[in-house]
Amino acid sequence: MTAMQFQPSADFARQLDEQDELSAFRHRFVIDDPNLIYLDGNSLGRLPRRAADRLAQAVHQEWGRRLIRGWNDGWMDLPSRLGAKIAALVGARPDEVLVADSTSVNLFKLAVAALRARPNRRKIVSDVFNFPSDLYIFQGIIDLLNQGHRLELIPSSDGVSIEPADIRAAIDEETALVSLTHVAFKSAFRYDMAQVNAWARQAGALTLWDLSHSVGAVPLRLNEWGADMAVGCTYKYLNGGPGAPAFLYVRRDLQADLRQPIWGWLGADRPFDFSLTYTPGDSIHRFRVGTPPVLSMVAIEAGLEILLEAGIDRVWAKSARQTEYLIYLFDQRLAGLGFSLGSPRSPACRGSHVSLRHPDAYRITQAMIQAAPGPQVVPDFRTPDNIRLGIAPLYTTYTDIYRAINRIETIVTERLYEAYPAIPQGVT
Ligand SMILES: *Cc1c(COP(=O)(O)O)cnc(C)c1O
Repeated sequence: MTAMQFQPSADFARQLDEQDELSAFRHRFVIDDPNLIYLDGNSLGRLPRRAADRLAQAVHQEWGRRLIRGWNDGWMDLPSRLGAKIAALVGARPDEVLVADSTSVNLFKLAVAALRARPNRRKIVSDVFNFPSDLYIFQGIIDLLNQGHRLELIPSSDGVSIEPADIRAAIDEETALVSLTHVAFKSAFRYDMAQVNAWARQAGALTLWDLSHSVGAVPLRLNEWGADMAVGCTYKYLNGGPGAPAFLYVRRDLQADLRQPIWGWLGADRPFDFSLTYTPGDSIHRFRVGTPPVLSMVAIEAGLEILLEAGIDRVWAKSARQTEYLIYLFDQRLAGLGFSLGSPRSPACRGSHVSLRHPDAYRITQAMIQAAPGPQVVPDFRTPDNIRLGIAPLYTTYTDIYRAINRIETIVTERLYEAYPAIPQGVT
């Protein structure tokens, strides 16, 4: 796909929508405000219609009527049943993925386990693009273990990408763990995961990937690419609902070597023996901690089923085309207005969102969300100057993208953003 194939007109956007083989999936989601253009599926995915139905059933039938018997009717298996569905999306075996806890907590569990599995090494390699929670978790682990571990962050020279040579240079014989976010949350830069895994393996280090901005958006082949461990969110491109539990992946032949540090009863070998001494379960079960949040887990399944039905390769093909279309419109309409592109141009090095940088980015996002008349556009703002536009191909249309770029152009050329305060407040 080259930019030559696009045209900057509303008619052309409509044509692209008419040709879109995934367009019917949009109707699987609750979308009832035609004036709202939602480009934040990378932070909180939309509500699948079936998720609302399943949730109502779980509340009224299962909790309301079955009560405690619900645990044996399927509640207890939710972490592994949903894990197996996520495994199918990320190129892993069904017994290598589990739904549990939050992304941050899973990262803690696996990072501690990894450092203890490499006791003679002291270095954790990450990068300056990583999500702050991930870096805080590593800093907290270093503080907790108090064994002289250190965190080394791979730099970026342009704020958009990371150079392969810099990754290679950071991974050495001292490295216990390489932990990176596969698709960077600000710039959408995407690593060549297989290459990084190969470098880590050669050096004897373990890898732990954060897939929060990848899963459900870009193809993943964790087994084939040799990933040791991974974590990720279910409330972004998986459409699992606000604060939905996260997932973790541990390569099968590594599971027995890893001891995670939170020894809860449901990670134990036989929880219902109520033994007074902890013995870790075998298999992926040892990475569980406590009672699963059933209602939140029930809400995840419908979104996973939609993605599996659509097929991640088709979802990604549409995402690549939509983000290229967005960048084409950016070049045509916004490039002269003080913006710069904050994401890689090539889809091969990018995830499913595009960051536009502008000195007045925060005020522009406020105007996009609040200004009337005209459509409301929901992006998100990432400090200091990023307007993030998330493409969720299951429900984002080409017309959405066309209208959003138009709206941004109007806001900037008519200086509508000047009506909004420059200081960020609340959740951005
Ligand atoms: C969204 C996100 C998280 C969120 O972690 P929680 O524990 O769910 O708050 C973590 N890492 C990355 C890379 C994210 O994008």
